[in-house]
Amino acid sequence: MNLKEDIQGGIFAVVAKVAADTGTRAFVIGGFVRDLLLKRPSKDVDIVVAGSGIAFARSVARQAGGMKVAVYENFGTAMFHFGDMDVEFVGARKESYRRESRNPIVEDGTLEDDQLRRDFTINALAISLNPDDYGMLVDPFGGLADLAKKIIRTPTNPDITFSDDPLRMMRALRFASQLGFTIEENTFNAISRNAERIDIITRERIAEELNKILLSPQPSTGFRYMLDCGLLKRVLPELAALKGVDNIE
Ligand code: ATP
Repeated sequence: MNLKEDIQGGIFAVVAKVAADTGTRAFVIGGFVRDLLLKRPSKDVDIVVAGSGIAFARSVARQAGGMKVAVYENFGTAMFHFGDMDVEFVGARKESYRRESRNPIVEDGTLEDDQLRRDFTINALAISLNPDDYGMLVDPFGGLADLAKKIIRTPTNPDITFSDDPLRMMRALRFASQLGFTIEENTFNAISRNAERIDIITRERIAEELNKILLSPQPSTGFRYMLDCGLLKRVLPELAALKGVDNIE
C-alpha cells in the first residue's frame, strides 16, 4: 500500500529532504499511522530513523525554520512543535528487559527491531519518508489486516510483550475502549496470565490509562475486559469485590 498522498508537504517534506540529503532512512511510525488509516485526526507525529534521532531532529528543526528542540538524552529522543503538531524523533532501537523493571536496556536496531518493540501490531505500522519508496507502508506484523479486523494483537509472543512492560496490558484495554476493537484471544489470555505484573506499574501511569478509558466512547468495554482478565481485582480491588459486579454487561 502507498500512502504518499496522505503525507505530502509540511513536516513530512522537511523530514524527507533531510533524509535524502543525509542518506538517513526515516519513517513515520506508530499512532500517527494507525490514526491516518482509521481516519482519526492526530497531531502527534513519531519519526524513527536509522542512527541518532537527536542529531536528525536538530537537522530537521534547522531546515524547518529553527524550532527549539527539546532533547531527552536519557531516552535518546528529541521533539519540537511544528505548527499545531508535536513531532518526536527516535533512533531505531532494540529493547530487552529485566524482570523487575519496565525500563529497558536499549541498543541500536533496525526498523523491524523497532517495530517489534511496539506494543500492538496496529501501533507498529510505519510509512517510508525515503526517496526510493516514499509513502510505502511497512507492515511486517500484519497491522493493516488487524485494523481491518478491528483487533488488538501483540507483534510478538504476548507473554513477553506484557511481562516486559505490564503497562501495555492497560493500553490494550484502553485501545479496545477507544477504538471499539476486540482483544485477540491469545493476547487476552496472556493478559490474564500476566495480570499480577501490573503491580510494578506506578499508580499515576495506571490512572492515565483509566482516565483514557473513562473518556472513550464506551468505557464499559475497558472495564469489562479489566474484570474478565483479572486486572480490575489488582487495580481496583474494592470495585472488583462488589456484589454483582461480575454481572455487568
Ligand atoms: P495516545 O496518543 O492515545 O496515548 P498513541 O499510541 O497514539 O496513543 P503514544 O502513547 O504516544 O501514542 O505512543 C506512540 C507509539 O509509541 C505507540 O503507537 C506505540 O507504537 C509506541 N508505544 C507507546 N507506549 C508503548 C509501550 N508501553 N510499549 C510499546 N510501545 C509503546
